[in-house]
Amino acid sequence: MTTGQDDPLRKLIDCIFVSHQDEAMDCESCGCQLECFAEKVSAGANLHDLWPDVEAHLACCPDCAEEFQALLCILRAERSGQLDTSAGR
Ligand SMILES: [Zn+2]
Repeated sequence: MTTGQDDPLRKLIDCIFVSHQDEAMDCESCGCQLECFAEKVSAGANLHDLWPDVEAHLACCPDCAEEFQALLCILRAERSGQLDTSAGR
């Protein structure tokens, strides 16, 4: 796929954009990784230490925070065996 993205100026602009995005996480980049974060946190990882950006985003974004809590809830239930996935049979 050639889309003309080899343009040096284009690369420079992309580079600036990426470095700026590091400052604040957006819903899209946060959302697609929420499951991974929830998994790590449910396994004992500390969100505040490992991904302060994510924690900061969750603190100011109710949508992602809610989704994260829901995922965490499910994962924790699975870990503690409270969620019996074979119950429906
Ligand atoms: Zn968000």
